Amino acid sequence: MISKITIKNLPHNPGISGWNAILPDDKPAQPLNKNMTADWLVIGGGFAGLSAARRLSQLIPNTKGIKDTNSTKIAVLEAGRIGEGPAGRNSGFMIDLPHVLSSKDYAGDNNEDQLQIAMNRRAIDFALDAADEYGLDAETIVQTGKVNGAATAKGVAHNLTYADHLQNLGETYEIFDAQQMQELSGSNYYHQGLFTPGTTMLHPTAYVRGLRDGLQNKVDIFENSPVISLNRTGPDWQVKTPAGSITAPQIIMAVNGHAQSFGFFKRRLMHIFLYASMTRALNTEEVRKLGGTPRWGITPSDPVGSTIRRISGRSGDRIIVRNQASFVSSMEVSDHVATAKRTHHERSFADRFARMGNIDMEYSWGGKLCLSLNDVPAFGPIEDGITAACCQNGLGTARGTLSGIVAADLVTGNLQDNHQILERMLSYPQPKKLPMEPFATIGATLTIKYREWRAGKEV
Ligand SMILES: Cc1cc2nc3c(=O)[nH]c(=O)nc-3n(C[C@H](O)[C@H](O)[C@H](O)COP(=O)(O)OP(=O)(O)OC[C@H]3O[C@@H](n4cnc5c(N)ncnc54)[C@H](O)[C@@H]3O)c2cc1C
Repeated sequence: MISKITIKNLPHNPGISGWNAILPDDKPAQPLNKNMTADWLVIGGGFAGLSAARRLSQLIPNTKGIKDTNSTKIAVLEAGRIGEGPAGRNSGFMIDLPHVLSSKDYAGDNNEDQLQIAMNRRAIDFALDAADEYGLDAETIVQTGKVNGAATAKGVAHNLTYADHLQNLGETYEIFDAQQMQELSGSNYYHQGLFTPGTTMLHPTAYVRGLRDGLQNKVDIFENSPVISLNRTGPDWQVKTPAGSITAPQIIMAVNGHAQSFGFFKRRLMHIFLYASMTRALNTEEVRKLGGTPRWGITPSDPVGSTIRRISGRSGDRIIVRNQASFVSSMEVSDHVATAKRTHHERSFADRFARMGNIDMEYSWGGKLCLSLNDVPAFGPIEDGITAACCQNGLGTARGTLSGIVAADLVTGNLQDNHQILERMLSYPQPKKLPMEPFATIGATLTIKYREWRAGKEV
């Protein structure tokens, strides 16, 4: 039994996330600056952590925030600001269908995919329900579906095999031809597209900020409050931050790959950085030239290609490009490395929208996600009083949400509502061990580079 944990690595988020930058300034943070107790403590304020906190608040009666100055029912500790970490750095596709990044076309095993769809939809329902309860608008979350865009003959073939897979699963889809892709996006780059209706599109930072604000009367959320150590004190854990501590008997650890910084899942988690850029707001003439519809999302038909998205509304009309990935076992990427990826994003933008001329990328950033070699989560009890809701394998908007929900079910003993999902989450084997360094980094880097090269114009 472990009695003391010292956190080795605190998160650093390279570059400025456009999603955060285009929102109005956030309200001042409330850091933890005292010693207190909580019945339930969640560490990490991303999709998993905030969903766990919301689910706890639904399951535990009378959660009214801090009861007296030193005790509360549910608390969340987040190292930075809500929405500045990976939860506010992604492309915002909350996908309902199988999305196996290691496959050539996202398809997985039939039986597992059936259950994955049910899990992803449970997460989407939870997010839509939160949006309804907290009054989040359609610029923050809306179920519009998305298209897998194919820019090569190989991409078209991937879409067709994936469509067959969906047919076998009884899922609906529509094939778009090149003309329909141009009508949607304004780009004549795509030969074909596979539209599926269930994906829910998020403004990721607005969504997680919305969850935080919606929970404010029920949960105490402390931002800029990185956990630096945990000490066992009898049946409880005393969890320290630089300016205070929370002592709690039950902790949900929702820090994704940072579970490793707490000493858990050593050499079992792969830390992958993805990179994105967002254009400046287009002017009226540029919007006219662009054509297409005001809001759309295109994921690449080859999983390592470019994700492209258009947003419209209060922050203007903008295009977001995501491509390039790197395996970083240290979990640290400098701001410079992240912003240097802008060149790739500009090239992918120019390929798709040649007639638009030079449109600056206003923001460029990187963010990390966590994968395991055997595509399983790091979920369940990991120490007395500590339950992990980590390693979302790329699809963290949906899978993070889901692991937060069922972690809350598990720690409160609510085993009925989502019992099939919980059973499956608890049945996965451990994430598989990675090769020793430097072999893990060399192997993963070569695989990523080879796959990017093979994806060709899909990037
Ligand atoms: C560019 C990019 C594009 C992506 N696109 C998509 C997409 O379209 N769809 C999709 O589903 N996924 C996407 N992802 C992945 C997705 O963002 C992640 O999988 C998701 O954020 C994981 O959610 P989470 O809550 O598990 O972890 P996180 O969002 O990483 O949240 C964990 C939190 O824990 C906090 N933390 C860590 N250590 C500590 C500590 N010591 N003390 C306190 N807090 C701590 C971190 O600050 C962080 O906020 C993308 C990622 C990137 C980078």
